[in-house]
Amino acid sequence: MPRFFIPAAQIKQSHAALTGAEFHHLSHVLRLTVGDSLTLCDEHGRDHHGTILSLSATKAEIFLTASSLPEAPVFFLTLAQGVLKGQKMDLVIEKATEIGVQRIVPFFSVFTVAQLPADRRSERVSRWQRLAQSAAKQSGNPVPQITTPQAFADLLATIPDGVGKVLLYEKEQTLTLKAFAQTYPSFSSLCVIVGPEGGFAAGEVEQAQTAGFQIVGLGTRTLRAETASIVAVALCRFLWGEREIPPLP
Ligand code: SAH
Repeated sequence: MPRFFIPAAQIKQSHAALTGAEFHHLSHVLRLTVGDSLTLCDEHGRDHHGTILSLSATKAEIFLTASSLPEAPVFFLTLAQGVLKGQKMDLVIEKATEIGVQRIVPFFSVFTVAQLPADRRSERVSRWQRLAQSAAKQSGNPVPQITTPQAFADLLATIPDGVGKVLLYEKEQTLTLKAFAQTYPSFSSLCVIVGPEGGFAAGEVEQAQTAGFQIVGLGTRTLRAETASIVAVALCRFLWGEREIPPLP
């Protein structure tokens, strides 16, 4: 079933209007036509099933036949990522969404190399949101929330108690993520922090520790930041994520 992203505001009771790039994809790329069935997913993780009622040059009117509420995630994963240069950050947003994160928090720290002037931040967040929307659509995952980039100290201060907290540090050669998971096998919410290209300053690692973060390593090799993030999301989901329930035969 073809899937399209639609802002919830464009859904009125049993009717939805698909416009813009998603309309283009429906009409000109997939060449769907009146009567065809499709699924629309919104930013709240809901799926809406329907059929195409009419097509104009700029929009498709869709009649909705059923909507499903998202299942509350058993495991809420937040990826806090030091802002990376252009395409590397795009890659992390895309792959993390595809594998499954509920929230992405970009941050600036001492060794951040990516330049992101204040006046370009909201434009960049919109770009990341668009990338997340299409990755969510492609994978069938809900669209993660992406916050405005914040300072590292603010990130540490805003993760509430009761959330599992880990920071990935390549110099941590004793405690691995796996060993940490063996000690704390169940979290319903976890925040994992991955540094920017330049890594963390020793003082930042101490700050994170003081804020209740467990410092963990991923083994003896130093991974590139974007690799570390993608690996971390996959491992966290594997170690703590909800089990997939197979469909009934
Ligand atoms: N400071 C280093 C490398 C930074 S790697 C340097 O420039 O030489 C970027 C980020 O990826 C790190 O901040 C860390 O969060 C993560 N990372 C990479 N390899 C890792 C490993 N083996 N264990 C844990 N984290 C790792």
